[in-house]
Amino acid sequence: MIKTLLEQTSFSYDDIVTLLSIDNQEDLDLLMKKALSIKKQYLGSKVHYRGLIEFSNVCEKDCYYCGIRKSKEDVERFMMDEDMVLESAIWAYKQGYGSITLQSGERQDSYFIDYVERVLNKIQDACNHELGITLCLGEQTPDVYQRWFDAGATRYLLRIETTEDELYRQLHPQDGHHELSIRQACLKSLRAIGYQVGTGVMIGLPGQSIESLAKEVLFFKDYDIDMIGMGPYLVSAGTPLVDQMDVASFDSLKGKMIRFELGLKMIAVCRLVLKDVNIAATTALQAIHALGREKGIDAGANILMPIITHENHRAQYLLYDQKPCVDDTAEQCKQCLNRRVESVEQEVGYFEKGDSRHYHNRMK
Ligand code: SAH
Repeated sequence: MIKTLLEQTSFSYDDIVTLLSIDNQEDLDLLMKKALSIKKQYLGSKVHYRGLIEFSNVCEKDCYYCGIRKSKEDVERFMMDEDMVLESAIWAYKQGYGSITLQSGERQDSYFIDYVERVLNKIQDACNHELGITLCLGEQTPDVYQRWFDAGATRYLLRIETTEDELYRQLHPQDGHHELSIRQACLKSLRAIGYQVGTGVMIGLPGQSIESLAKEVLFFKDYDIDMIGMGPYLVSAGTPLVDQMDVASFDSLKGKMIRFELGLKMIAVCRLVLKDVNIAATTALQAIHALGREKGIDAGANILMPIITHENHRAQYLLYDQKPCVDDTAEQCKQCLNRRVESVEQEVGYFEKGDSRHYHNRMK
């Protein structure tokens, strides 16, 4: 039955629920194999790198799941100086990474907005405007998105986290600063400006069903998004979400493996449904399974995000516990990911931006 389903070119809500519900190894292997073949058919056998610079953990948001939320007092806050960001970007450029991602906690003050604008200009000047730059800096006004676009960012990743109203409210304080509708409006404004737009969800959240995840896949399709960054939810000790749960049972080995497998199934199903979008095999997969990112690529992902955050600050940017690679240097991350890509018989697209194919197709 799965075999015929996998031959389809379009998928209904019920089909997606069926695929996400697969619970036996044989069908799971068929799903992964099909997703990988669709990836290769639409995007070839390359994987592209986005050097990830986590330049600040200062955050105004208070999301109940996140390890750098505003109210978490035991976090040593930092903001890199501009030259440190620039140095990492130039390093990535010289390595032939083709693209970087700038990520931080969320702030809307003018100091922060100007800082990002200046950094973008400096990076583009230093790298001959040849580097693809993705921003992952949360909700901003259309004006700010436009300024950063004009300064040289071409992609924006803003995870919706979940589109299920009630779950969204369970994950965020009701203080007027955490509104699902605003996040959705941000995605629309990013698109109107001309960004390649990325979004994504956390997978395996407490209270999240398979049906809910199936709706997320349809949300990605409905918003015609270009890129997806998503991964399993991971516990972060000392956050309200974890304080409310029975951690021992939620975070048992079995619990973790269920979330991990669901993460892989989501990648595969998004590949089947959305075909030509960029999908990242995120670090969160590797936080659960040593071969998490390889398995993500085998499930149809085509993007990897080697961390190039300066060693001095890696351990301060902890969205969740057990973050891998905190003790590595940028060079070690490069060697490590190169081996991972080789092991799954694909190659790294060095010196290429690796833009979203979907974006170029929809712009035609
Ligand atoms: N503040 C920025 C980006 C930083 S957080 C923004 O809002 O876009 C980047 C992503 O990390 C979030 O979108 C969220 O999906 C993910 N994240 C945060 N806490 C997490 C956790 N405990 N487990 C898994 N992913 C988490």
